[in-house]
Amino acid sequence: MRHGENMSATPDPVWAATTLLAWYDQSRRELPWRAAPGNVADPYAVWLSEIMLQQTTVKAVEPYFSAFLKRWPRVEDLAAAELELVLQAWAGLGYYARARNLHACARVVADDYSGRFPETEKELLTLPGVGPYTAAAIAAIAFDKPAAVMDGNVERVLTRICAVEAPLPGAKPELRAILEILAPAERPGDFAQAMMDLGATICTPRSPSCSHCPWRAQCAGLASGLASMLPNKTPKKAKPTRRGDAYFVQRSDGAILLRKRPTKGLLGGMTEVPGSEWREGQKVMSDEPIEATWERVPGIVRHTFTHFHLELAVYMAHVEDGFDAEKEIVPERCMWVHRSELDTQALPSIMRKVVAHALEHSNH
Ligand code: SF4
Repeated sequence: MRHGENMSATPDPVWAATTLLAWYDQSRRELPWRAAPGNVADPYAVWLSEIMLQQTTVKAVEPYFSAFLKRWPRVEDLAAAELELVLQAWAGLGYYARARNLHACARVVADDYSGRFPETEKELLTLPGVGPYTAAAIAAIAFDKPAAVMDGNVERVLTRICAVEAPLPGAKPELRAILEILAPAERPGDFAQAMMDLGATICTPRSPSCSHCPWRAQCAGLASGLASMLPNKTPKKAKPTRRGDAYFVQRSDGAILLRKRPTKGLLGGMTEVPGSEWREGQKVMSDEPIEATWERVPGIVRHTFTHFHLELAVYMAHVEDGFDAEKEIVPERCMWVHRSELDTQALPSIMRKVVAHALEHSNH
């Protein structure tokens, strides 16, 4: 059977753990959420970093992580913060449902667990926004519990060390079984982090540095010459493209009309430049927030979400200060925010692009 063939390429577990942990003790990455060697990691820092790292790189996360810890040093502080402030601090990291879950999770830990994170995967899984991967990562890294922590880096290393040719994601159960064989009972947290580090620094996606790898002596991928071609992946379906309009209104005193998105759904609770719905195919009827003379800003603003590409046409209008007093309207969920205060708003990346695009044009 195919599983059997691959399993036979699994390196000796005792050798694999010993060599990998020795390499880790020498070559581990210094990361702001990591405890110094021999010290116990702070579960709050581990949890915060793991939630931030979902779908994002270490480099992108580092400044956000430091800013969050400085502002909310303990889980109780985060729990007591206004959701709006948490969303603002999160703006730019993407996947905003995570920020709402982060806040909800902090409240559960503060209220139901007296500020101490639970230690088992089973209990961790009951927390908002904590899925199987994050539960395993926190259990292993913060509490040194044996847990199969398998992210994209670890999957790649496993397919190579055992020369698993079955494509991902279908091969995941097989990889998990291999990981359970390899993970040691001693120092499981360090082993999990060592696997991540090996994937991030040595066994990299395009050109693995096999000559520096602690596992080169028993790597089936290297021996077979397949290493840099693995993992195989089942082709993804092409993402659809949705289109819509954004309406950028600038008042003569420098204020800009912004709108709060509904709490539920994509980018829920975030701030946006008012606009139409985003749809595939036929464009929806125009949906200007106010009556004004609209001018189409040349070009298109593009952004890619997990499940679709988005193309926004931007329209711009200028109105006088006192405009809303005269007309006695501020459209539903809308507010005027001065240009100099845009940074205080929970504007997601796509909306920052819209604002930059419109301002660039209006300055010409
Ligand atoms: S020897 Fe090369 S392919 Fe094998 S685990 Fe190490 S870096 Fe990856």
